[in-house]
Amino acid sequence: MTDTPRRPLVAGNWKMHPPDRATAVSLARDVAAATRGLEVDIVLCPPAVWLDAIGAALDGTPIRVGAQNLHAQDSGAFTGEISAPMLLGVADHVIVGHSERRRLFGETDADVAAKVGAAIEHGIVPIVAVGESAEERRAGQTEAVITRQLVAALSGVDELDGSALVVAYEPVWAIGTGDAASGDDAQAGAALIRALLAGRDPGAAAAVRVLYGGSVAPDLASTYFGQPDIDGALVGGASLDAEAFAAIVRAAAG
Ligand code: PEP
Repeated sequence: MTDTPRRPLVAGNWKMHPPDRATAVSLARDVAAATRGLEVDIVLCPPAVWLDAIGAALDGTPIRVGAQNLHAQDSGAFTGEISAPMLLGVADHVIVGHSERRRLFGETDADVAAKVGAAIEHGIVPIVAVGESAEERRAGQTEAVITRQLVAALSGVDELDGSALVVAYEPVWAIGTGDAASGDDAQAGAALIRALLAGRDPGAAAAVRVLYGGSVAPDLASTYFGQPDIDGALVGGASLDAEAFAAIVRAAAG
């Protein structure tokens, strides 16, 4: 949709892995060593309790650290929650609206919008995840779901800034299933996302990185990175293996 060059970005969502801090630190170090010199932005999203340790392990490397979630309020009586101001200094990205948060923890479109607003207000780049479930896909609702989720997620953002926002198209049926989307389907989702962003601000839409996520593995990665509206990947399972993750990053480097 646009010729504006966008630097590739590959983010690793470690979810509730690995089992201990030492393994997490060595995974981060191994990723840094295996991706050294590649012209790709990399964000590692470890469990919150290790954000600090992973940041220290990555000190001196270009790899950024992201959180997997945040609370929309700056502070308050919200037991177990972490706010955007608390993330400052340990994370400069945050995944918002992941389907596991929506499905398992009841996050609504309104919750996602509030979290996106909080992240942007504090200068943390939200990686906003949108995507349809298997049932929605079967019912022909893919475009409607992506549209509803993205429009809602950005409803509190007055001015889009292409460098302050990342969007990930993550079809729910492809996450953790090994049933990755085809390159064409992933591109269709990414193109719709970019068109929706362009409806708000064409300049910002040309700069926003749109990722594909869902069972991305090294052998499939170039299928996605060759697509015009896909600028990288949000990687779950394969991000826990430094060599597999590095192979995906190499594919993104082209
Ligand atoms: C994810 O959790 O965002 C994800 C894409 O997971 P996986 O790569 O394991 O499908």
